[in-house]
Amino acid sequence: MCQDKPIFEPSEWKLTKLQKELCDETRFLASKNFVSRAVKYDQDASFPTENYSDLFKNNLMGICIPKEYGGRDADLKTYMLAAAEIGRYCGATALTFNMHVSSCLWTGYLADNLDMREDLRKEHHNLRALHYERILSNGSIYAQPFSEGNASAAGKSAFGTKALKTSNGWIINGKKIFASLSGHANFYGVLCTELETQASKPSRANTMYVAVPAQQKGVTVEGEWNPLGMRGTVSRTLVFKDVFIPFEEQLMPRGIYYNAAKQWPHMFMTLTPSYIGLAQACYDFTVRYLRGEQPGMQEVKRRMYPTKQLTVAQIKIILEQTKAIWFQSISEAKPNPSKDQIMRAWAAQYSVMENVNEIARLAIRTCGGQSMLKSLPLERFYRDSRCGALMLPWTAELCLDMIGKGALYEHGESDED
Ligand SMILES: Cc1cc2nc3c(=O)[nH]c(=O)nc-3n(C[C@H](O)[C@H](O)[C@H](O)COP(=O)(O)OP(=O)(O)OC[C@H]3O[C@@H](n4cnc5c(N)ncnc54)[C@H](O)[C@@H]3O)c2cc1C
Repeated sequence: MCQDKPIFEPSEWKLTKLQKELCDETRFLASKNFVSRAVKYDQDASFPTENYSDLFKNNLMGICIPKEYGGRDADLKTYMLAAAEIGRYCGATALTFNMHVSSCLWTGYLADNLDMREDLRKEHHNLRALHYERILSNGSIYAQPFSEGNASAAGKSAFGTKALKTSNGWIINGKKIFASLSGHANFYGVLCTELETQASKPSRANTMYVAVPAQQKGVTVEGEWNPLGMRGTVSRTLVFKDVFIPFEEQLMPRGIYYNAAKQWPHMFMTLTPSYIGLAQACYDFTVRYLRGEQPGMQEVKRRMYPTKQLTVAQIKIILEQTKAIWFQSISEAKPNPSKDQIMRAWAAQYSVMENVNEIARLAIRTCGGQSMLKSLPLERFYRDSRCGALMLPWTAELCLDMIGKGALYEHGESDED
């Protein structure tokens, strides 16, 4: 069994049986297999293919697929808790796993908790069965490319990737940047704007969510991938040139995604567990290192120095604060949350993404020069931790923007005359 204690001790945080079970499974698997592979994925900026085979073998690819389809039936909170344990051992695996799992969350738990017309719900149940079957039977991996390098990923404009309707499907044209899992996913869950005709005006209300098979004619992966951190995500550019997609490839019925995104803001927090895991990993490392117990290092104790004790205290305080706001926020996730709950979700997102890098910075400062050598994982944690605040639509800057406006303005208020 895994030696590391859970990030959220089940009885103290009142986890359900399923939450405990899934957290134990992910912690055990990731600490046993993912932690040693993380070095190579980071060095080579290569995709964690072996980890995905393990996730499939251990029946975790369908973690958020509803029970009636044969999945593990995790809701948003349960998934987030289990994913944090993966992020603790391999940030890139946790981040890419999030892209895969998002396709099941949008189509499963989130859709099931939305008001939907009966005929649309029936259509949706038929549509999603196809995707769930691929995941559960074949271990198919779904990616989640929505960024385009324009205002669409921040939710400020319609997606530039267009789906022109034909009699039996759509012709898709466009480009997605930072498409994690590119070249490795079997399907790309693409957000695009449906057009009835070439002349139709693009509208956010016509956002569509469709699965594009990776092998479909007209799909190409372009550009290099050599970033600072989260290197194993392989987030290259995806190009769609006259790609035909039949109607059956919809992940949600037309028109549903736009409302779902408005009603379920907490969905945009699903990038955070990877970074909660990383924050815990930085703390674990620092304690081991200062106690002289870090594998690969001489057994030199550094814990007796008061300045080191102070810094570890600072790290622990930031970690506990971050865990607390995050746990509260994922616990209250629901459709149409109150204004306070949305503001708290932004504050939680901001806290996780900024604090993880602060914790990594303090960890390197207090552990010292040897701790940032590439033979140890802390320097990777530091680089990986820098990426969280950049993820749209809730980047750290945009969270500040939204919290500030939300605090000072009530709905409909403006200073314009
Ligand atoms: C490791 C990694 C993996 C990723 N994986 C994926 C993935 O799988 N799928 C995916 O879709 N994307 C992914 N992304 C992309 C990510 O979500 C962002 O889209 C990307 O980082 C934005 O980069 P940019 O330079 O285009 O940002 P810009 O759009 O230029 O924004 C730069 C900054 O300006 C601010 N800003 C942006 N828009 C506004 C606005 N309207 N008003 C005010 N401020 C604004 C934001 O704070 C932002 O950080 C990934 C990114 C990283 C780093």
